[in-house]
Amino acid sequence: MKIADIQTYHLNMPIDEFAFSQKWVRARTALIIKVVTDDGTVGWGEAFCHDAGRAIEAIISQTFRPHLIGRNPLEINVLWDHLYNWTKDYGQKGIVISALSAVDIALWDILGKVSDLPIVTLLGGQFYDRIQGYATGLYMRDAADDRQNLADEARSYIEEGFKHLKMKVGYGLAKDISIVTAVREAVGDDIHLMIDANHAYDATTAIRLGKKLSHLNIDWFEEPVSPEDIEGYAEVRQAIDIPVAGGEAEFTRFGFRQLLTQRAVDIVQPDICAAGGLTEGRRIADMARTWHTRCIPHVWGTAIGRAASLHFIASLPPTPPALFPQKALLELDLTPHPLRDEVVLNPPEVVNGWVTVPQAPGLGVEVNESFLEANSRSNIHHHNP
Ligand code: CA
Repeated sequence: MKIADIQTYHLNMPIDEFAFSQKWVRARTALIIKVVTDDGTVGWGEAFCHDAGRAIEAIISQTFRPHLIGRNPLEINVLWDHLYNWTKDYGQKGIVISALSAVDIALWDILGKVSDLPIVTLLGGQFYDRIQGYATGLYMRDAADDRQNLADEARSYIEEGFKHLKMKVGYGLAKDISIVTAVREAVGDDIHLMIDANHAYDATTAIRLGKKLSHLNIDWFEEPVSPEDIEGYAEVRQAIDIPVAGGEAEFTRFGFRQLLTQRAVDIVQPDICAAGGLTEGRRIADMARTWHTRCIPHVWGTAIGRAASLHFIASLPPTPPALFPQKALLELDLTPHPLRDEVVLNPPEVVNGWVTVPQAPGLGVEVNESFLEANSRSNIHHHNP
């Protein structure tokens, strides 16, 4: 079996704008990869692309493609290692690794289809049949009353069945305290609430915020400081009693090594579509468990990336093990995303906030190719000569 062709699809659609601590979001994008073998098997993957979809396409077509065409797609680890080492001098972090993640996920999809098994089985089996989702939303909008607006949105998630919500902070201490208090009051004490500053603060400010919110029973404080500031993370973690989470802007086991060895976080959050795919995600999760640290992946893509994350999360044992352990969680981005479910014909269904792990071979999603063809802005489609 050989890789015969690789295609990419870059999608970009405008949305009603919303903001987090760093910027306004006015479009949703996706970078989808299709790997085709000489016997016609097709594997799909996704890269976390922000607004760099074209650049990731170029990495795949210019840099990776010559190393993949003609190779055995089942040698996933061999190909991962080759592509990583080939680009090491300029690609250890960022979009090169995101591109590698997309390739890796597509190869796992092929392995699953060839084996007639879901990826979660190939990862060693599933600890959960279904995963509890946590609602990621509660961004800033152009609203007259932010407190009221966020409280209403939070209550809507509770009505959908969610027990875990994550909201954005990072707008300044006074504003953060005001909106987190409003959301906590709106949802009551029994709902799990997490906060995410998207690295808007230095360690001193993050510590002040963590202390001022400690009475609101926050499950974790995500990206309190800049991803480069590992010492700052460790300072925040030492100083506050809210668990600290981070890692969505970190890449490969080499990046996560610092977070773990310096005991900088309570929870690592690798993104399977960015940090190195399922292959590297597994290494990161194994390393996290070696440091007795929870791994709750960041998830922000379409249904393709969500499916890959589902298989991955279901394969992770509870950390630490216990009769009543802390259960796995799946991040469910509930912000506007006109591409999320449209790219597949059978998106993983959310029922009362829970998502069942797909059991069809590979990722278990059926990609809507005509939607991709109709909406792709790609100009880099390669076909067999
Ligand atoms: Ca985040």
